[in-house]
Amino acid sequence: METFRFRDRDLALKIVGKIKEYGVKATFMHVCGTHQDTLLRYGLDSLLERVNVKVKAGPGCPVCVTPPEEYEEAITLAEKGVVITGYGDVLKSPGYDRSLLDMRAKGCDVRIVYSVSDAVNIALKTGKEVVFMGVGFETTAPSTASTIINSPPENFSILSCHRYIPPAVQKLLSMGELKLDGLIQPGHVSTIIGLTPYERLLKEFNIPQVIAGFEPLDVLMAVLMLVKQIYEGPPRVENEYVRSVKPEGNLKALNMINQVFYPIKVHWRGFPEIEKSGMKLKPEYEKYDARLKFEDSIGDLSSGEFGKPKGCLCGEVLRGIADPEECPLFSVRCTPQSPVGPCMVSIEGTCHIEYRYKKRCKQVKR
Ligand code: SF4
Ligand code: SF4
Repeated sequence: METFRFRDRDLALKIVGKIKEYGVKATFMHVCGTHQDTLLRYGLDSLLERVNVKVKAGPGCPVCVTPPEEYEEAITLAEKGVVITGYGDVLKSPGYDRSLLDMRAKGCDVRIVYSVSDAVNIALKTGKEVVFMGVGFETTAPSTASTIINSPPENFSILSCHRYIPPAVQKLLSMGELKLDGLIQPGHVSTIIGLTPYERLLKEFNIPQVIAGFEPLDVLMAVLMLVKQIYEGPPRVENEYVRSVKPEGNLKALNMINQVFYPIKVHWRGFPEIEKSGMKLKPEYEKYDARLKFEDSIGDLSSGEFGKPKGCLCGEVLRGIADPEECPLFSVRCTPQSPVGPCMVSIEGTCHIEYRYKKRCKQVKR
């Protein structure tokens, strides 16, 4: 019942009316798959466009931003007989031209798990080498970290593809490809990291920012708060999602991340390498680092250059400079049933969300 308070249609229209009163024309960006889902599922994107506000999706889907070479590392290990475990969308995403599930169809031992501890249990039961492909931002990294702290068996290791989100936002703003008037910051990530990283972005870019929850009224309120900031100034960091996000974040989860990982420069799909944006296991936990354990098999893959399918605009979609429908493959060759790029594989992917709620078939339109 509580949830429905945040879906009240009349209140939503009132907020949109308030946004209109400010008469501000603006482009905002969010970095969260669930925000994109809320925007399209409830038609907020069209409502906001009517009052001159565009909200673009950025690099907010962890499965999508993981670059092909990291999927290739897991695929190569699967070919060598290692048991590969991960969440469903991770296993479906393509490396160069094949996914982990394709490898399972060819007889490799690739298993979907629902938590890192499921993967540890597989290691305990089978006694085989088991690798967990850890994909995700600050939200999922604490559970990986906690598993490592609790000394899993030595035949278990992590292929860490975890990433910190603030450096990617910093990179996106410094690349300057898109003129943004404000940022809607992600709710779940912010429950962990708190407000401090956004204060740093404010200092560097002087850009309005609002942390938002995931219900329609949360997102509309965040837009209203951003528009108000633009109108009245000065830019600041505000928290719309006070019911979950504390200014200091979740210190226990942050401590676990900091105990196990340290930041390194890594590649994100569609981006150049981003300083201090990847989570690497610290030397004291290196026996659980799959990249070190299987260095002979996958050591040269991380620096490899992998092409992208012809016409695929996933990189541009992730940087917010192209909409899914601008991709020539969208709903023609690339659909959720037969995805070409990761943005169509993951349910948090911008193309998958666009297809789910708008599903415009270019072939029919022609
Ligand atoms: S983990 Fe949560 S906050 Fe992060 S992108 Fe996914 S839905 Fe958004
Ligand atoms: S439609 Fe498919 S190929 Fe095109 S950008 Fe989206 S996921 Fe990539």
